[in-house]
Amino acid sequence: MYNFLYYKDDEGIREPWFFENSKLPIILSYLAPIDIYAIAFGPWVWCRGVMDDITRNHETIHYHQQLELLFIGQWILYVFYWLKGLITYRDGVIAYRQSPFEREAYANDQNLDYLKTRKPFAWRHYREADNKKT
Ligand SMILES: [Zn+2]
Repeated sequence: MYNFLYYKDDEGIREPWFFENSKLPIILSYLAPIDIYAIAFGPWVWCRGVMDDITRNHETIHYHQQLELLFIGQWILYVFYWLKGLITYRDGVIAYRQSPFEREAYANDQNLDYLKTRKPFAWRHYREADNKKT
């Protein structure tokens, strides 16, 4: 049986189920401060188009962040950090980019081997906003 809560299975790094050419990111973009291209929620990822390796890696990093926080914990913290960013920056897009979950994913999504060596709860190291970067 598929176990959602392990980082790895026999095939290596566990991946979510990907749904490509989905309308869901388009619909959700009406509600979100950003234009959503792909979204990871629970064991699923929806993407507007066909995913490239970097997007796939980015969303799989989010999947692993959710795994270690038993999904609900990541969703609550994700909203918490976004609201915290919104208060600090007064800008929904900056608040999104400064979330530790997004900062970890953006910092590492081009390294396709990242999840092989990623330590659990690695997003913790991205909690302090990095003002040196744009
Ligand atoms: Zn992301």
